[in-house]
Amino acid sequence: MSKSSPKAACAPASKAPSAHLPDGEGIIIAHHGITVEVRFSSGERCMVRVKRRSGHVVGDAVLVKDEVLERLPRRTELRRRDAMGGVHLVGANLDVVGIVVSPAPPPPNGFIDQAIVAARAAGLEPFLVVNKCDLEVSADLVAALSAAYADSVEVFPLSASTAAGLDELRAFFAGGHRGAFVGTTGVGKSSLLNALCPEIDLQVGTLNEHTGGGRHTTTVSTLHSLAAGGELIDTPGFNDFGLVDISVQELSHYFPGFGQSPAENCRFRNCRHRTEPGCAVSALVAQGKLPADRYAAYLEILDEVEASEAQARSRGRKG
Ligand code: GDP
Ligand code: ZN
Repeated sequence: MSKSSPKAACAPASKAPSAHLPDGEGIIIAHHGITVEVRFSSGERCMVRVKRRSGHVVGDAVLVKDEVLERLPRRTELRRRDAMGGVHLVGANLDVVGIVVSPAPPPPNGFIDQAIVAARAAGLEPFLVVNKCDLEVSADLVAALSAAYADSVEVFPLSASTAAGLDELRAFFAGGHRGAFVGTTGVGKSSLLNALCPEIDLQVGTLNEHTGGGRHTTTVSTLHSLAAGGELIDTPGFNDFGLVDISVQELSHYFPGFGQSPAENCRFRNCRHRTEPGCAVSALVAQGKLPADRYAAYLEILDEVEASEAQARSRGRKG
């Protein structure tokens, strides 16, 4: 747990700002480098100074006592890998992750599966957003993705441009979910955030991870409350989540479409569902209950994850 000495600047929504920092529990709703904005359980919001590398992130629950801010243990952590391979923590205590895809640009091979596995491994519930449903070509994608994923995760076909389907997503968040969107550049994450939280006003189509853009040069991220309920972190530059440290074990446990707990149905607890005897997953394929292309997608990712684990092991031996 890290403690910071806060310099208070509080602004109750309607009353005059108070210089005094209240005691109590709160949550970090914005991060600006050396200050964080804390929303207290009372609804009061305060800017609190923290050390530059405090490690606090949006979504962190904190306890403020005698002007000292203490971070409480996290339920979940959401990480991303940037274009240079660095790993960043972008949010704490989220419970859902929306994987955003579109017909143009289409999802890269394996992207959805890896994002689902990574979300589940992090203790988050993934759901799928198929954006740009105003485009005629989207019908095929929606049909294919619904067939492959509807049994495993919720699927929301929608259009950030026309607002079609947005109410279903709002209703999902209104159930009390706190989440973030992930997806490759150009699928419409900024557009979707703007449509759901009109106060954000992200620049569409211009955000760039290397240069930053608009407010994101100063504000790392913000947790927005949705009008109908639920909360969203604005992370529009969040592209290749899903590729962060998936282990073979996580892949074999969480791959979508294998049922609730495949490992318990296989003879070996650490079954990789490849050629092991008594494998419940190969049995599903043989019975035609698991489509061959889904199984092939799994084996392809398994090869990659095994290769990167072997690489990491050999680096470890050398180092
Ligand atoms: P991001 O990179 O994921 O944040 O994507 P943007 O929100 O910047 O959108 C990328 C491009 O897709 C922009 O030209 C948007 O106008 C366009 N776009 C976003 N949502 C939709 C949609 O629902 N329908 C259509 N047709 N275009 C969209
Ligand atoms: Zn198996």
